[in-house]
Parts: sequence; C-alpha cells; structure tokens
Amino acid sequence: MSGDRLRSMLPEGLPGNESDRKTGLLLMTPLTGDPICFDACYANMPNVKILTYPDKFLLQPTAPLENIDGQVQRMIDEMAKTMYLAPGIGLASIQVGWDRSVLVYDIASRDERRDLHVLINPRIVSSEGDIISDNEGCLSVPDFRADVKRSERILVEGLDREGRPLRVEAEGLHAIVLQHEIDHLNGRLFIDRISALKRELYKRRVRKAIRENEAAV
Ligand code: ZN
Repeated sequence: MSGDRLRSMLPEGLPGNESDRKTGLLLMTPLTGDPICFDACYANMPNVKILTYPDKFLLQPTAPLENIDGQVQRMIDEMAKTMYLAPGIGLASIQVGWDRSVLVYDIASRDERRDLHVLINPRIVSSEGDIISDNEGCLSVPDFRADVKRSERILVEGLDREGRPLRVEAEGLHAIVLQHEIDHLNGRLFIDRISALKRELYKRRVRKAIRENEAAV
C-alpha cells in the first residue's frame, strides 16, 4: 500500500524470471552469485523490485509459509526495507515476487518511531462495519487512487515473524491496510474492488502507456 508518494522511487530491481520468483530466488540470489558474501552483498544491493500491474504474478494466491528460517528472516528484512524506501505503509510478499504468505506494515506517522509489524499466513476471521478507504493507493498500481469500501473492524489470525500465533484486532486505517495486504496475498488488487468502469479506465491507461513505451524502444 502506498504512502504519501504514489510512484515507487525504486531503482530497477534484480533480474529474474517467473520461475525464479516462485522459488524466491529473485530475492535470495546475491548479485555476485557468491553465497559466502551473502550479507555483505545484500548491504550494497539495490532494493528488490516491486511488481506492478499488469504483471500476472500479482494475481496468484500465495501459499502458506511453512518453515520460518534465517532466509525467511532476511526476506522479511528486505520486504521491510523495500516498503520504507518506496515509501509505503504496507507490502505483501507477492509484490516482490515471493509467493509465500507474508506481509509487513507500519502505520506509524512520520514523526513517530518506526513500528514494523510482520504477519505470516494471516487470515481474516471476523469483520464488522463498513468504511470507505479514502483515496486508497498501491505500490503495484502506480499513478492511480480510488475510494474503496472496506470493513471497519477486523480480527486477523496468523503468526508473528518467529512463528508464534498472533491475533490482531484492527480498526480504521489499521484494518484497511491489513485488508489491502491480505487481498494481495489472495491474488487481489484494490482495483478489483472498484467499479468496472473505473477499473477499465485505469487498464486502458496502462495499455496505452505500455504501447507508447514499446514504440519508444
Ligand atoms: Zn498494494
């Protein structure tokens, strides 16, 4: 989910194809290919790329994460770094090419300390009330915002980054961010929740931009 600035300011990310992304190699392969300098490589590595619509990878549901090991911790750190640099207030694993069910978010305001939250295998177990998410945006849907109907309060169950069971009661912005990111983990974008007409206008704009880009190459 995007923060104050809509367009991602990230440099181009790591190379990778669809099968790399499925196995998480896109995130895990150091630039030099040398596993010994893994952490050192990461320190100087450009941030991972955030996939954007119409990348089909964004439309697939993630699978539950089973083993929470050191590699997973590093990937979570990369997700957090990517989110903060974007800048955004939430990011789902599928957005960085990882198809296991992990999300990170931080809804602390700019003058507060960072307050990173990690949720693994989250699911909404109850929801109540309606709220309009005002001008919602997404790092994977650049240059577009829309009002989205969301639940006002939700209860989410999942695991923390250590694998301990976690229950999160959320309302307002907190609830909106969690719904947005859990949608990502289920292969849904916020534009799937707006009117068909608005969605079509956005898709048309993206197709036109892609055509113009191709013509310019
Ligand atoms: Zn998003």
